[in-house]
Amino acid sequence: MIDLRSKTALVTGGGRGIGREIALRFAQAGCAVAVSDIDVTTAQTTVKELEALGVRAVALQADVANGSDVEAMFKSIVAAFGALDILVNNAGITRDGLLVRMKEEEWDLVLRVNLKSAFLCSKEAARIMMKARSGRIINIASVVGINGNFGQVNYAASKAGLIGLTKTVARELASRFITVNAVAPGFIATAMTDMLPDAEKEKLVKNIPMQKLGSAADVANAVLFLASPLAEYITGQVLTVDGGLVM
Ligand code: NAP
Repeated sequence: MIDLRSKTALVTGGGRGIGREIALRFAQAGCAVAVSDIDVTTAQTTVKELEALGVRAVALQADVANGSDVEAMFKSIVAAFGALDILVNNAGITRDGLLVRMKEEEWDLVLRVNLKSAFLCSKEAARIMMKARSGRIINIASVVGINGNFGQVNYAASKAGLIGLTKTVARELASRFITVNAVAPGFIATAMTDMLPDAEKEKLVKNIPMQKLGSAADVANAVLFLASPLAEYITGQVLTVDGGLVM
């Protein structure tokens, strides 16, 4: 049983999907959780679910690609909790298209939301965690950042960048006992994959050795492990949660 009762966490994009499930797992382990989302109403709904589990929780509105939003978000977390032990950089988006058709705005937006956000939030979290000489940063990457994917040049580049960021920040913060790891989900049943046409989904599933999509809970369990004392000596790693897609 993982016990996070004395800990505090921030989950970005926690209003729905994988982020919501991670926030729930943390709360089940007794952790106080700040849930941030660009749409605060979804974060508030998650917070109600967390409070029903008996933990402290706050909902925060923030566009994690925006530096002043991120700064304000961390000020609110320190005001609410006085500390931050665990950061999960989860918020992410897709704007798919072939390279030759992709608009510059689609490239920029995906890189800002998926990659710049992790730089901004990790920098703020590192300041708090370095003083505490402990902490966990977990970045939600994707198998697409390892293997590439047709029609996702912006998304794949952002997730590959996130893996490079993970390994670099892990090296910089290791001496302060802060671990930094990435979880790379394969194809997980959420609103993000619901957007795909059925024929596309069938094709995807055929390529997965386990022959099924993963669940948000599969990803959240891996994140909970990396956030827990069980993973104290693990840093700079990419844990794929993908039914065997990448091996
Ligand atoms: P999702 O259901 O679309 O949830 C993403 C959450 O992030 C939403 O609540 C969304 O808010 C929020 N968000 C979007 N832009 C934001 C911004 N600028 N600032 C703050 N919050 C923002 O996606 P998901 O499937 O749970 O994905 C979560 C993470 O896992 C992402 O990083 C994604 O790339 C990664 N991932 C997913 C899969 C998959 O198969 N689903 C596979 C590999 C990796 P709104 O709803 O208001 O837009």
